[in-house]
Amino acid sequence: MGAGVSGIILGSLLKKYLNVNISIFEKRNQLFNNINGLQLTPNSTQILDLINFPEIFKKEEFLSIEKLKVHDLYSGELLSEILLKFNQKQKYISINRSLFLKNIFQYFKLSENIVYEEIKDIDSQNNEIIVKNNKFFFDYIILCDGIFSKLKKNIADQSISFSGLYALRGSYDLTNDNSSNIHLWLGENEHLVNYKINNFEISQYNYVWITKNLRNFPISVQNYDENNQYLHEMFKEKFSKKFNFIGKTKSISVWPIYKTKNIFFGYKNIFCLGDSSHGFIPSRAQGASQAIEDAYVLFKLFEKNNLNQKNLTNQRLRRIKRIIRKSEKTIFIYHLKNSLLKFFRNIFLKIFSNSKIFSSLLNRDIFNFKL
Ligand SMILES: Cc1cc2nc3c(=O)[nH]c(=O)nc-3n(C[C@H](O)[C@H](O)[C@H](O)COP(=O)(O)OP(=O)(O)OC[C@H]3O[C@@H](n4cnc5c(N)ncnc54)[C@H](O)[C@@H]3O)c2cc1C
Repeated sequence: MGAGVSGIILGSLLKKYLNVNISIFEKRNQLFNNINGLQLTPNSTQILDLINFPEIFKKEEFLSIEKLKVHDLYSGELLSEILLKFNQKQKYISINRSLFLKNIFQYFKLSENIVYEEIKDIDSQNNEIIVKNNKFFFDYIILCDGIFSKLKKNIADQSISFSGLYALRGSYDLTNDNSSNIHLWLGENEHLVNYKINNFEISQYNYVWITKNLRNFPISVQNYDENNQYLHEMFKEKFSKKFNFIGKTKSISVWPIYKTKNIFFGYKNIFCLGDSSHGFIPSRAQGASQAIEDAYVLFKLFEKNNLNQKNLTNQRLRRIKRIIRKSEKTIFIYHLKNSLLKFFRNIFLKIFSNSKIFSSLLNRDIFNFKL
């Protein structure tokens, strides 16, 4: 259920390696129409190699990231450079989310499997899905229906909580730029991330401003709100002098950031993957990467005829909890307001700038995922 990150990756793994009948149900009929960027870290890019990533994508369609450059949002001072690429084999990439999903979808001919219908409900006792008042039986039902999952409602607590954070995402084009770094600016209760998402002659860039400071703004917090003009103006006023790329912005959208209240992997032969199982703050760029890991683990269990709730939970729960804790700590450190704490944070970042050991320790837990 759902042709997002976890649904498409799982569909591809199943189609490439196993002779099973699959149907992918998707409620949207326009699947690949946004220009948001996505960062994918080595733990998930090694899984993408199993579904022929190097064959599916041309070199200029994604960017291989070298470093994270950390700056102070207000003074612009460069605080630190954190290495993200340690060897040739390890890939940390950024890519256009739509292109990423579309190319994989086309390569594995998932159009043969997709049904453009919204699933209204599932009958967990009989393992059936309900589409337009008709019921269809499946041996396994995999919920990949994202953070706003409604399909869990009869089997789990489906409540989500608003994190208090908003992400405002914009994109712009630039010619002839050789950048291969992610830029991060740390402010008080806010941070900004900017990165290139491909290597075309005219390359696309993406920026995300994550802030707590929008509580009194008249925007919808119920859904992802495309092209919010009001915020666009406010953002421009605030940052356009500092960053000239703001003036080049082509589109801007607002994403209120939600978290699932409980981690849930499913019930009987119904399994939950990705944000539907564990939505969390994307401060370590792990939402999609964890959705990809989930899809891989479920696929492996299925291949070995070991797929059940206990095994999936055993393999995923501890890791997901650890990544959620890290993401929460990271946002706290990024958004520090206390001057003394900020001072120590910045000193620490400066001392370890460009240190291979520090960079590796910082990300080791996340990047290392054994296949
Ligand atoms: C601002 C922001 C920035 C992010 N940046 C990154 C990043 O850089 N790196 C990263 O790894 N992650 C990032 N993430 C997180 C990442 O986008 C998500 O974690 C990831 O997309 C989750 O994948 P998924 O498969 O669980 O759900 P989704 O990709 O959201 O897919 C869910 C799909 O299910 C469909 N669906 C829902 N209900 C039904 C239904 N009833 N019937 C049929 N279809 C249905 C939806 O239409 C959708 O296509 C970011 C998130 C935000 C908010």
